Amino acid sequence: GEEAPRRRVILLCSPCMGHLIPLVELARRLVADHGLAATLLFATATATPSDEYLAVAAAVPDGVDLVTLPGPAADALPPSASVRERVAHAVVSSVPRARHVALSLAASAPIAALVIDVAFTPARGIATELGVPVYMFFTSPYTVLSLLLHLPELDATITGEYRDATEPIRLPGCRLIAASDLPSPMLADRNSEVYAKFLHGAKECRKVDGFLVNTFLELEPAVVDSSISGLERPVHALGPLVWTRPAAADKDHECMRWLDRQPPESVVYVSLGSGGTLTWQQTAELALGLEMSQHRFIWVIKRPNDDPLGCGSFFGARNIGADEDLDFLPGGFVERTRGVGLFVSSWAPQTAILSHPSIGCFVTHCGWNSVLEGLLNGVPLVAWPLYAEQRINASMLEGQLGVAARVKLSNGGLVLKQEVAGTIKCAMKNGGAETLRKKIRKLKDKAVHALTPAGSSGHALAEVSNLWKPGT
Ligand code: UDP
Repeated sequence: GEEAPRRRVILLCSPCMGHLIPLVELARRLVADHGLAATLLFATATATPSDEYLAVAAAVPDGVDLVTLPGPAADALPPSASVRERVAHAVVSSVPRARHVALSLAASAPIAALVIDVAFTPARGIATELGVPVYMFFTSPYTVLSLLLHLPELDATITGEYRDATEPIRLPGCRLIAASDLPSPMLADRNSEVYAKFLHGAKECRKVDGFLVNTFLELEPAVVDSSISGLERPVHALGPLVWTRPAAADKDHECMRWLDRQPPESVVYVSLGSGGTLTWQQTAELALGLEMSQHRFIWVIKRPNDDPLGCGSFFGARNIGADEDLDFLPGGFVERTRGVGLFVSSWAPQTAILSHPSIGCFVTHCGWNSVLEGLLNGVPLVAWPLYAEQRINASMLEGQLGVAARVKLSNGGLVLKQEVAGTIKCAMKNGGAETLRKKIRKLKDKAVHALTPAGSSGHALAEVSNLWKPGT
């Protein structure tokens, strides 16, 4: 007889590359390994899709349908709107279109579940309408999910500003979180709109049927300890899901050929993710610190930006063309580092770079995908957290896991060049990296095993897929 159509999972992604990349990998696994079909809908935040998005879209694996939901008009929000506001706006404006696509998919094949990222809670009603469960795919550590789910409780019991708290935040089974490491919206005034929206978002997160977290049991054993008072929702640790399939073009990128010519473990890779930016002064300190470290480097460089949160290029505002555009760097720096340093001014093939044997350490803003990619390649990390939950990630990596050296801020709030050079030294060969490398390689082995069918994450994904295929 005719084969019944596969049950389809619909995944909704807000305009964040750091959400899209692991969601693509989740969709790929559901299709390739678990007999489901997958449609991934991406809400664009800009009038035309960014180069970053097009680069990721070009590498979407066979079997995963990627649908671009058109972005709002360029002038829909004032230029001063924050990244959070732009993401929220893009999501809300895309819900009617997402609903339309979901309903037409449901007309031709059974839908198994709706999977949303943390920003897509306004689309929950689509799952109700389709009569399917809604799961949240959480792209940061479980510790951060636990913080969000406990936030209403913390809000009710902690008085005063969180940033003034002398006691760290305690979450069941998780590492303590120092007040100064809290996510940016919690460091804002508690009567601010930023905090109010964050708290609202946290409450919305509780209204899903279950959580899929991009972490693994051996990394965050607290995931089994996920009892949140009054909230009985399953938490499945499925990670580390990272971009495993670099585009064919990645292998031909000039930086890969350059890496081929460098000695093993000799190159510092510097990237602050898709959104991270530094001020003019901080960019200069980083440059001079790299030079002072006397190591070779690849620097995914962006024009300095005064964004106080440090996420000024979130929607792909790349504006560097050729070498002469690097005029913001300290005088003579480009000439002095010629042959030693390589600048990449557009989307870098990060997973290909990190897997190259010439890479010695990774200076990262601690975006969770970057962290997992570093980990899966066994590369020691230099933690330079900027915004969102990145300070929590940095603290886990340094204090709990011992796989990173974290930069310290000066009294003026800058990472000074001596600090840059010193921290890099600690993460490179002959400078103390042996311990970091040993630990991260151990963790890598556990991560690789977790993803196998017999491992904790492989098992969890099979379990979730079975939930979504009743009767099979
Ligand atoms: N990335 C990349 N090339 C770049 C910048 C980023 O491939 O030039 C990828 C990186 O490998 C990671 C993702 O984009 O998968 C960034 O996610 P992350 O969570 O590290 O940081 P975010 O950009 O969300 O702050």
